[in-house]
Amino acid sequence: MQLLCDLSESELADVISALGEPKYRVKQIMRHIVAYDSFAEYTDIPKRIVAALSEKYIDVALKEKTRVTASDGAIRYLFETFDGDLVESVFLPHDYGNSVCVSCQVGCAMGCVFCASGHYGLKRNLSAGEILSQVLFIARDRKPDGVQKIVMMGSGSPLANYENTLKFIKSVNSPNGLNIGMRSISVSTCGLPRRMESLAADGFSGTLSLSLHAATDEKRKKIMRVAENYTVKECVAALKKYFEATGRRVIVEYILIDGFNMSDEDAAELKKLLGGLCCHINLIPLNPTDSCDLKPCSKKRAYEFEARLKKLGLSASVRRSMGSDVAGACGQLKNRTAEAEQKLRSD
Ligand code: SAH
Repeated sequence: MQLLCDLSESELADVISALGEPKYRVKQIMRHIVAYDSFAEYTDIPKRIVAALSEKYIDVALKEKTRVTASDGAIRYLFETFDGDLVESVFLPHDYGNSVCVSCQVGCAMGCVFCASGHYGLKRNLSAGEILSQVLFIARDRKPDGVQKIVMMGSGSPLANYENTLKFIKSVNSPNGLNIGMRSISVSTCGLPRRMESLAADGFSGTLSLSLHAATDEKRKKIMRVAENYTVKECVAALKKYFEATGRRVIVEYILIDGFNMSDEDAAELKKLLGGLCCHINLIPLNPTDSCDLKPCSKKRAYEFEARLKKLGLSASVRRSMGSDVAGACGQLKNRTAEAEQKLRSD
């Protein structure tokens, strides 16, 4: 069975027309998908339509299992899918608009050494509706403030789940959906250049972020498996094409790892690589994870590196990390299903 919120507006229109029902029901149901989480609440829609929909579609995509609130107000939600997988999302409150960080896969295939999400590999892609449901649930939960921004930076690699990522973005951007503007949607990638290049033509015009983390292929291969397949130059060329197609400044993410990628030489390599690109560099102090022995840096060193990059004429800032005391910060979301299964086997 499929989820109701997996349907795009035109797919829903086909379903309604096949049922012989009037067109205006489409918009009404789209609005109900945003406002309610179950068919039981569709009380102003004729019973025959709700019955026909519930024969074919699931209304509740995700059930909340737990939530933990961090001292900075970030909330890490753990959801269960209709088939028992676990999905994590993080709500990040800001004065300038609240964000939700969504997951797009159960686990992740990329195997970056610093990131807990890939520790158990990839279990499966999330459907567009499962990604959307994370935002819908949290927007309802956080009323009246709601959600104004979306970052695709939870578990999984959005561009490795390309079709569902695009479908999700179109749904969440739709005026009959949550109506979140493209400019308020960020997609982060470990660097899949061909997909990065097709995003603009496929209708995405939000913020594209590249997880670079090292300015040379040699160094990047030590921490990111994807660097075996694509060079930093290919990734940067793809960012440039995205900028040319959309006019949107791109973001380069750079984790600060003490003794690894923070020397003056690293700064000079970054300048060489990114000098001609309209980008901002987000410096992310490494967040600790269980399985990784890379070293975080001190605040002082982080700001020194930022100053060094600025002196070279690059735009850079140290990113404030949220949710780290509840394991909800960058790289700390993990495949808790796999973890639970492994624990069962070892007990
Ligand atoms: N899967 C996406 C989003 C990842 S999370 C991607 O690969 O781009 C957002 C950012 O946090 C990415 O740049 C990611 O590389 C980074 N990150 C991952 N693990 C981290 C950690 N332990 N500490 C700090 N940042 C981390």
